[in-house]
Amino acid sequence: MEFPFELLNDGDQLQFHKGVGCDRCGGSGYRGRVGLYELMVLDEEIRSLVLRRASTDEIAHLAERQGMIRLREDGLLKAAQGMTTVEEIFRTVV
Ligand SMILES: [Zn+2]
Repeated sequence: MEFPFELLNDGDQLQFHKGVGCDRCGGSGYRGRVGLYELMVLDEEIRSLVLRRASTDEIAHLAERQGMIRLREDGLLKAAQGMTTVEEIFRTVV
């Protein structure tokens, strides 16, 4: 897995954090939840792949070339924004 640097803006500060637990969070270091999202837009190009029963790999690769952000990329971007940790992304995203 590579960090999706291309999705950052020039000048973005990368600041990763490590979770530190306390009594209030039961030692987890986390509070609440944050959603990770992956949205594929079904445009004509994707639709034609689906109609000719292309493999999921082929469809995913086209969607990525079109700019779809993968779940793990969204997670790493959120880790870079300090919303969660890299450890939590590796733990939760396959
Ligand atoms: Zn805590």
